Amino acid sequence: MNDKNKNSGKIFRQPVTMRMIFCIALFLCLTGCSKYSIPGSTGTGGSNGSAPQKHKISFFAMDTAMSITAYGEDSLFDGGNSPLDEAGELIRSLESGLSVTDENSMIYRINHAAGNEVPIDAETAELLENALILCQKTDGALDITVYPVVRAWGFTTGVYRIPDNEELNELLKNVDYRKIRTSFISDSLRSANSVDDPALESSGSSAETESDSFSKAESGLYSIRVERNMMLDLGAVAKGYAAEKTADLLKKRGISSAVISLGGNIKTIGTRPDGSDWNIAIAAPIIANNDSSTDNSDEQGLSDASASSEPSGYAGILKVSDMSVVTSGGYERYFEEGGKHYCHIIDPATGNPVDNGILSVTVIAEDSLLCDALSTALFVMGPEKAEEFWRSSLKDDQINGFDYLMITGDNRIIITEGITDTFTVDPTYSDHSISILYHLEE
Ligand code: ADP
Ligand code: MG
Repeated sequence: MNDKNKNSGKIFRQPVTMRMIFCIALFLCLTGCSKYSIPGSTGTGGSNGSAPQKHKISFFAMDTAMSITAYGEDSLFDGGNSPLDEAGELIRSLESGLSVTDENSMIYRINHAAGNEVPIDAETAELLENALILCQKTDGALDITVYPVVRAWGFTTGVYRIPDNEELNELLKNVDYRKIRTSFISDSLRSANSVDDPALESSGSSAETESDSFSKAESGLYSIRVERNMMLDLGAVAKGYAAEKTADLLKKRGISSAVISLGGNIKTIGTRPDGSDWNIAIAAPIIANNDSSTDNSDEQGLSDASASSEPSGYAGILKVSDMSVVTSGGYERYFEEGGKHYCHIIDPATGNPVDNGILSVTVIAEDSLLCDALSTALFVMGPEKAEEFWRSSLKDDQINGFDYLMITGDNRIIITEGITDTFTVDPTYSDHSISILYHLEE
């Protein structure tokens, strides 16, 4: 078995305990900022020997503004294909492979197979496997089959409408991740999950082990079947997955200090070149007006990246290294009608946009896919269930705990104990009460 296969299905790595540091609101200015676009990323400076130089690309993909900033000797970025350009290409290829509308994408093929089994590649299998496990662990708060409902509300086209209950109930008949059948959810993964869930039933041999399952990568034996009228959409986890793959690529190319910022999905590699933590701005979850919707906090030297695609202010700064910081917010895509706010995150239990008082949820853990999935799922769960989930996740040997920061409409900021010393609230949010959740002693 090669290394790649060994790691397949192991997106959830061991958590890194966040370093406890004194919390001083230091906005460390970055020097030599400049923006470059694909193709042809370039670094700044370059004439002072081996001092790490800043290299950055900015581009638009997966429907959002993205940037990758990496530090290192110029030699790492020289030559034929710069690692940053390669990372940009990787993200674009993931985007086209995961597109729900592109007829050439793997997802499109799965969705249009009229209930038949579709062979898929090992990478898609890995992503689907992790996504399905998280659908199950979150008890369907995350459900990768919710697409037809998202589409009915107009969130896929921007032509918004309010479907009536009859229409929603009809669509909900085809929303259930447990009806997906795969050849690759193995017994060992299944037994790691405490609940017996039909979604995780393999269509392969029941005696199959995880290593058997992943040795199928070479023989092209991965397959998936979704029922007629069901549709998969990996929008809630795609950016997290892309951030994880990008980090793998950059590390392989020798980069040990970088921030990958994929529209609110931040993945940090190592520390800043001086060994200090990265400063990640947590967006104020308010509706950005047109002229303040550009993320320029890092250009102003306020932070290294912002955990939101369209921030219009900041609720605070979080210091991290070697971690992911992913935000889901009801303010990112929404419409208003009759004075009511309808956001793009749907409760799969009702088919309605989530309306539970949460404005945004930021999840902090090592793995970006996990953070992306959980930020969407905790948003759906609401404050109480989210807290319960967080408490139980520590005992889950695949998730192994995580931290989160939740901002609610009644001016509360709820944070978990792991980030108390690394989160600094912005003065503009000083009117918010801060609650800290602690794990209970056994
Ligand atoms: P964003 O993509 O804006 O960063 P999320 O990661 O929270 O935000 O993903 C939201 C997207 O996922 C929606 O635009 C929609 O396509 C899809 N989606 C909405 N609700 C759910 C849900 N409960 N489970 C899975 N996917 C969802
Ligand atoms: Mg998400």
